[in-house]
Amino acid sequence: MVLFVTGRCSRSCWYCPLSRERKGSDTVFANEHPVDIPSQMIKEAENMSALGTGITGGEPLLCLDRVTFYCRLLKEHFGPDHQIHLYTAKAPGDDELSQMKGLVDEIRLHPPHECWNTILDTDYIRSAKRAKEMGFDIGIEVPALPGLELLIPALPFLDFLNINELEWGETNAYQMRERGYELADELHNAIEGAKGWADELCRHDKVHWCSSAFKDSVQLRERLKRIAENTARPFDEITPDGTVVYGVLEPPLLQRAGCTQFCERKLDPGSFQDCGDRIEMAWWLLEKNADELPGKKYIIERYPNGGMVVEVTPL
Ligand code: SF4
Repeated sequence: MVLFVTGRCSRSCWYCPLSRERKGSDTVFANEHPVDIPSQMIKEAENMSALGTGITGGEPLLCLDRVTFYCRLLKEHFGPDHQIHLYTAKAPGDDELSQMKGLVDEIRLHPPHECWNTILDTDYIRSAKRAKEMGFDIGIEVPALPGLELLIPALPFLDFLNINELEWGETNAYQMRERGYELADELHNAIEGAKGWADELCRHDKVHWCSSAFKDSVQLRERLKRIAENTARPFDEITPDGTVVYGVLEPPLLQRAGCTQFCERKLDPGSFQDCGDRIEMAWWLLEKNADELPGKKYIIERYPNGGMVVEVTPL
């Protein structure tokens, strides 16, 4: 699960991928869902049978109490093996590390681009050494930018170094154009040439490359599939992409009762749900019985558990 703890951050990296909705806000999100009460976060983790959680932001260390509160809840509910990693653009000091000890398993440091050429003289290395001594797994995670090879001297102090393919987004598009960067293709958000900047660093064993396509296609699809398997109703069809498909009937007010009776008489109990102003059912049953059911009819494909609607097909 991805737990977004705050959109606040004291840095202003030109490549920041945060959306307008999240940047600067102080709302917590578990995956795509806003969290108003902590039990909603636990529910979302249960929905996807989460084995671990990535704490992200904004800058999570700006709300360390919130981070430790949620981590404690996760560890208490799912047990100590629920792996928790935390992203931060700060170099956590002893006090911050002590507060996270036993709650966060792995720290992923994001040193800003401008300090890569002096990385060994920065607090990030001091922080990495202390974190290691205290038993954390410690690594660096950065976007692919020119000059990645400047991070090679940091490798002996780290367990891993992750590079994420630089991505075009709604909030950094202007900065991308200013620098003359272009999209690699029309299907993904990856930037042309980003892989080349990582080539030298990627020769080292501790270094992992995460492509934009992998993140979008594989990681997202796997997450959606896990959520779909745990939350889909018997009549929801789960697609290979992890979305769910079902049919919706919106009967005219005066014919609602008749439509409900028709479904109760003709359909298996588990193949439809009366939702008040509409009846949801297996899409193929709606298609098959369309002539006998008055009202607006359509097929919906959406992310599981009431998530984003991907497509609506009228019948
Ligand atoms: S540190 Fe992260 S959240 Fe903060 S501005 Fe940079 S990229 Fe955005």
